[in-house]
Amino acid sequence: MQKILIANRGEIALRVVRACKELGIESVAVYSEADEQSLHVQLADGAICIGPGRSSESYLKAERIIAAAEISGADGIHPGYGFLSEDPDFAEQVESCGIKFIGPNSEVIRKMGDKAVARRIAAEAGAPTVPGSPGPVADAEEASRFAQNVGYPVIIKAVSGGGGKGMRLVHSAAALPREFAAASNEALKAFGNGEVYIEKFIEKPRHIEFQILADEHGNIVHLGERDCSVQRRHQKVIEESPSPFLSPELREKMGEAAIAVARHCGYRNAGTVEFLVDAHGNFYFIEMNARIQVEHPVTETVTGIDLVAAQLRIAAGEPLGFTQEDVRQSGWAMECRVCAEDPERNFAPCPGEISLYYTPGGPGVRVDSHAYGGYTVPQYYDSMIGKVIVSGATRAQAIDRMQRALSEYLIRGIKCNIPFIRSVLQDPVFAEGRATTHFIEEFMARSAATSRKA
Ligand code: ADP
Repeated sequence: MQKILIANRGEIALRVVRACKELGIESVAVYSEADEQSLHVQLADGAICIGPGRSSESYLKAERIIAAAEISGADGIHPGYGFLSEDPDFAEQVESCGIKFIGPNSEVIRKMGDKAVARRIAAEAGAPTVPGSPGPVADAEEASRFAQNVGYPVIIKAVSGGGGKGMRLVHSAAALPREFAAASNEALKAFGNGEVYIEKFIEKPRHIEFQILADEHGNIVHLGERDCSVQRRHQKVIEESPSPFLSPELREKMGEAAIAVARHCGYRNAGTVEFLVDAHGNFYFIEMNARIQVEHPVTETVTGIDLVAAQLRIAAGEPLGFTQEDVRQSGWAMECRVCAEDPERNFAPCPGEISLYYTPGGPGVRVDSHAYGGYTVPQYYDSMIGKVIVSGATRAQAIDRMQRALSEYLIRGIKCNIPFIRSVLQDPVFAEGRATTHFIEEFMARSAATSRKA
């Protein structure tokens, strides 16, 4: 491959530009009118405007992106994450134009994008799944039967769900009909598909996911796990590797299950198999993400493997060139998502011009961001403006280093969540590695109680 078009924006588009430069591949950015000043546009070898700011008019317009790829003569399209990255129709259109889609093929994206089908595939592959309905449920009555079987509380989940949307927690049989209707309406509106299924609600789980790399010659490895239990409203805030919870035995078992799922669905390229793990070490498959993840640098840091370069090489047909035994993890890595939002106003997005901007440096610190002083954060997109990734010999060192890095990260002119993340990092539950997916909620309740007392 000689030229890649990047069908995305922001930090991930810039990440792909960087990988292309190191591999001697030409990169072409696409951008909306609101993103003309973004660093990904300035640093790519070429750039094509694909429409107005709103993503429905630009980054979600498949035909404009494919036209841009054809005009620029790109051999491949890297979809990044979000937007069209897991849209099987987009991948299929790209394939049918004779352009390489940098990811699994459209058939696999379609299968794994349907969370009920993915659950079935995982079960067939021998991976434990959360007890629940074997597929979508037809109506509230059927939902009730499955909920009764597995016992309350249960979660109603949208078959096409993502980003934490279309999910409802139900505590009792009385509440089920109402929540069922609400969940399927919400799913229909958000994803154009109202189908939902039932899962038992796992109490206080950890979210632990495995990074997969699969080439086009049948070689599949996992690159260990990322613990993403620190979430606010089902959205990840801090990610780390290794997980403070996993024993070497459990890691091996879960890694094998992740590989089995990837093998069974015919997976190619980089992907992530997500699990919930309960307090007793029981683990359950929840979904597979058929793309590069926001938190991929954490894995890059502990394994020394450049995941985006690996994606490009795999798409070009190169074999992995290493086996599971060759994969080594060393030290500890942690990532924080820095967002233009105001924790004081319930995390409302805070777009606007960054008046002063200074990124941290020093040993063990990496910042992936498309922002700079004078850059205006557009109102149209996700509020994430950067990721800080640190490494340390131990978890304690990684936390200290993250505190130090965040104390150096200056972003003026807009509000951001750095003070909030710093207070989370100081919390003893987090410091002791005891955070479950309920941690942020409990942390915020504790902080509110303390400030009421004061
Ligand atoms: P999405 O695709 O919308 O991100 P996921 O299925 O990946 O949805 O779930 C997102 C998060 O929701 C998980 O990381 C976890 O915190 C919570 N969650 C999902 N399913 C369950 C469950 N069965 N029990 C408890 N928590 C769950």
